[in-house]
Amino acid sequence: MPSDTRNKNVGAPGAGPPQTGPRLWGGDLASETRESNDSPLAPGLYLVATPIGNLGDITLRALDVLRRADRIACEDTRQTQKLLNHFEIATPTISCHEHNERERAAELVVALQSGARIALVSDAGTPAISDPGGWLVRAAIDAGIPVIPIPGANAALNALIASGFAATEFHFLGFLPEKAGARRSLLEDLAHQPRAASATLIFYEAPHRILETLADLESVWGPNLRIVVARELTKIHEEFLRGTITELRATLASRDRIRGEIVLLVEAPAQSPASAETTANESLAMRVARMQSEENIDEKEALKRLAREMGQSKSELYRELQRQRARRR
Ligand code: SAM
Repeated sequence: MPSDTRNKNVGAPGAGPPQTGPRLWGGDLASETRESNDSPLAPGLYLVATPIGNLGDITLRALDVLRRADRIACEDTRQTQKLLNHFEIATPTISCHEHNERERAAELVVALQSGARIALVSDAGTPAISDPGGWLVRAAIDAGIPVIPIPGANAALNALIASGFAATEFHFLGFLPEKAGARRSLLEDLAHQPRAASATLIFYEAPHRILETLADLESVWGPNLRIVVARELTKIHEEFLRGTITELRATLASRDRIRGEIVLLVEAPAQSPASAETTANESLAMRVARMQSEENIDEKEALKRLAREMGQSKSELYRELQRQRARRR
């Protein structure tokens, strides 16, 4: 977890949970949560979200579980130790990362079956979201162990809610492939999925690759696609860059160096204003997919309308569509 925080004093070291048992907020204010202060922590696997930069974002419940668990399984024990030291938590840690998760899961499940309380954390944010955890969770579920999420920080969702883009439907894709060819074909595939292209897209991206990715997005969806680059969320240099691909490529390219952690958001490509250039460069297959999603029509109707617009026969357009699809296979 990055060490620079905006407010290191929030969440005072050693701050314990409230003296009375934590209460539910919402529908049933009088009910206690399953981790009552008066009773030992219930056995099970606790998925504990940790801050993505600002230590103040740890929750009271996360601190309570981390303090009372038998063991904390960590993506990187040294990283988590800094967090534990800050909050004066002495619970023993054990590593559980992408290279040992399967073997470790088997070992932890044995402990869980004999009643252990294990907390799982990643370096930052919510475990199992582009982070280790999924394997252990599945192994615990298969063994009939209770799995308890302890909610908290997550970069994708916080970037989304401040992006200004529709949050009713979104498509989280994590990290794009590193290899240019694979990245390009994933984006092209997305462009051909009307459902995906009509939702906000969310990616995690490394600063040294952001310019390449923006160039790929531009070649698939054109220069007018609206995007947000959310950088260094919750930290001192938190920044939201909003604009079209062209604008943000220019802004970022003008910097000496692009630093920090980045969430890249793309406004539903099917709703972005398509420039004349985009339409000209669009394949027939992309145009059909876009019309299906924007106009809520089926492929047959999209071809009929396009045939009228382009002064071509529907069957000729249908054959061209099949040719384009065959080339993509
Ligand atoms: N599990 C984490 C979560 O819940 O967000 C994500 C872990 S993933 C390995 C790390 C990536 O998340 C970073 O490369 C970056 O894309 C994004 N990320 C994490 N913290 C961030 C922050 N403070 N600001 C912007 N992006 C962040």
